[in-house]
Amino acid sequence: MKDEVIKYSEEMTSGESAVLQELRAHCYAHYEDSAMLSGFFQGRVLSMLSHMIKPKVVLEIGTYLGYSALCLAEGLADGGKVITLDIQEDSNRVAREFVAKTEFNDRIEFLLGPATDLIPNLNETFDLVFIDADKPNYSNYYNLVFDKVRPGGFIIADNVLWSGKVIEAEKDENTQALHDFNKRVLADDRVANVLLSIRDGLMVVRKK
Ligand code: SAH
Ligand code: CA
Repeated sequence: MKDEVIKYSEEMTSGESAVLQELRAHCYAHYEDSAMLSGFFQGRVLSMLSHMIKPKVVLEIGTYLGYSALCLAEGLADGGKVITLDIQEDSNRVAREFVAKTEFNDRIEFLLGPATDLIPNLNETFDLVFIDADKPNYSNYYNLVFDKVRPGGFIIADNVLWSGKVIEAEKDENTQALHDFNKRVLADDRVANVLLSIRDGLMVVRKK
């Protein structure tokens, strides 16, 4: 899509909260890897999807600064919570600080460690899982969470187009992993899926 049309779509989309705006500005000003943050438009998409699903329990794999966790928290059912996992202590501390400024402080649980170690210890049923950590592990994360997602629940994975590199013949490790993940989901009879080609690609998966 043309940049102007994307810009128009963003302009015609509801604004985010003041804290989210502040978090994004903080990230763009101080972090070299700020492109990892979901960004305004995708944040609004995640919030909207969460409102549509009204999840009781959300699992996020890849917290970074808590931006997407806060967006997903907006649509929680009453008494619901987001559990978010990350391996990086420094960004996690900042995420906690920002979340503490919001009404979602007691509804977002942070866990620190490698997600492949943490997920097997989670004894919860998830209505929604957002996969957004290290790309080579996407298929592992999918396999690890699958039985913990309720029938009718959703798995959403970010960056599945990887700047369009998934369609190139030569694939580096991350690109190949994402392509394998996409094919794995498509071939999985237990789910229906749609690859939304917004931003860097959002794979939306519904467990039958
Ligand atoms: N979901 C965030 C962005 C996440 S960026 C948003 O949209 O705003 C990816 C995050 O995955 C980084 O913070 C990184 O520290 C984390 N990560 C990378 N490898 C990981 C692992 N093995 N286990 C848990 N988190 C990991
Ligand atoms: Ca991402």
